[in-house]
Amino acid sequence: MKREIYDEDHEAFRASVKQFLDREVAPHLESYADGHGLDRDFWLAAGKQGFLALEIPDAFGGSEAGDYRFNAVLTEELAKVNMTLPSCVGIHADITVPYLVHLTNDEQKARWLPGCATGEIVTAIGMTEPGGGSDLANLRTTAVRDGDDWILNGSKTFITNGGSADLVLVAARTSPEKKAKGISLFAVDTTLDGFSVGRVLDKVGQDESDTAELAFDNVRVSNDDLVGPLDTGFISMMQFLPQERLGSAITNLAHAKQILEETVQYAKDRQAFGQPIGSFQNTQFLLADLVTRVDVTQAFVDQCVVAHTKQDLTPVDAAKAKWWTSQVQNDVLDHCVQVHGGYGYMNEYRVARAWRDARVTKIWAGSNEIMKMLIGRDLGL
Ligand SMILES: Cc1cc2nc3c(=O)[nH]c(=O)nc-3n(C[C@H](O)[C@H](O)[C@H](O)COP(=O)(O)OP(=O)(O)OC[C@H]3O[C@@H](n4cnc5c(N)ncnc54)[C@H](O)[C@@H]3O)c2cc1C
Repeated sequence: MKREIYDEDHEAFRASVKQFLDREVAPHLESYADGHGLDRDFWLAAGKQGFLALEIPDAFGGSEAGDYRFNAVLTEELAKVNMTLPSCVGIHADITVPYLVHLTNDEQKARWLPGCATGEIVTAIGMTEPGGGSDLANLRTTAVRDGDDWILNGSKTFITNGGSADLVLVAARTSPEKKAKGISLFAVDTTLDGFSVGRVLDKVGQDESDTAELAFDNVRVSNDDLVGPLDTGFISMMQFLPQERLGSAITNLAHAKQILEETVQYAKDRQAFGQPIGSFQNTQFLLADLVTRVDVTQAFVDQCVVAHTKQDLTPVDAAKAKWWTSQVQNDVLDHCVQVHGGYGYMNEYRVARAWRDARVTKIWAGSNEIMKMLIGRDLGL
């Protein structure tokens, strides 16, 4: 089905992203996987192209596109390569940077945003803790006032870009008695004394990212590093999570769609019993089913992108897009593995890696159960 949401400016931007990925990223994909992380050259090259600065105002080194559809195009093209690129770039440019753009004063913007735009400052966001991620209001990392500073103690886990980030936006408890209304956000420079990266975690998939544990042992953070008003961190997270969930939905679908296209080609090329496996009615019906699921889902996600571009996306629609696309993605990829037969289980095949990479999408950015809880609440249940 022809998509109507993009115009020629978006498509020109898409072409520039594709060219960048072919030229500067494709040759290094295996080394990112071997090294368990994107290297700094990747970030600097992406920064040079302006891909990290779509949300950043002109005055602070960005392009301030002011049109979320450019973010969506970038996300789609990254997801066609693999799941890791949109996750790592998304956490930085689409998730953490917006907090720094919208919740900071000019001094903070000048300190952080130009580096975020060029890739000299890579960011991460630390919400999840070893004790729990779904129940954010109960987080245990503390920030205690000490003169003009705050002293941070606690730990975070599963943090994307955690092994290499220069700046981590950390959610910490500033008012113990106030539960959700006692959480604040701090931009923590990772060179500060007392900050340390624990293990870079051994994941089922997404080998190219350095998802890590972080520890804060009496880290002294200036009050100038408080992001947004004191004790409003939880509200801010709730405000910014719909964009994270929409980015996740765009990624999930673009990733599944790409692998499905490659699987259709495989079904045309692979022979069994003297004929292409795609000529068996079972394969035809299966692929027809999957293509339909992807196209119908695309219509909903596109509507969400249009709504978000007009700043109209509701948290409930973002939750629907997130859980549904991750389910579709995982179902589609599981079937794609099956169509590839034994090759589908070999890591040297893209489909196998895609299947491993995708499993997490039902868990992160708010698990699918939490998404359904939000939708259920909206039904008045
Ligand atoms: C690869 C990876 C990257 C990540 N990147 C980041 C990151 O950059 N920053 C960050 O802060 N976090 C990150 N996360 C964490 C992620 O957001 C959490 O894993 C997720 O929110 C779930 O939290 P949890 O793992 O503590 O599971 P739990 O909260 O312990 O949940 C366990 C299970 O219980 C279910 N459950 C919990 N509460 C309810 C309920 N009320 N009703 C029904 N079911 C419920 C959940 O759905 C889940 O199935 C990442 C995770 C992974 C795996």
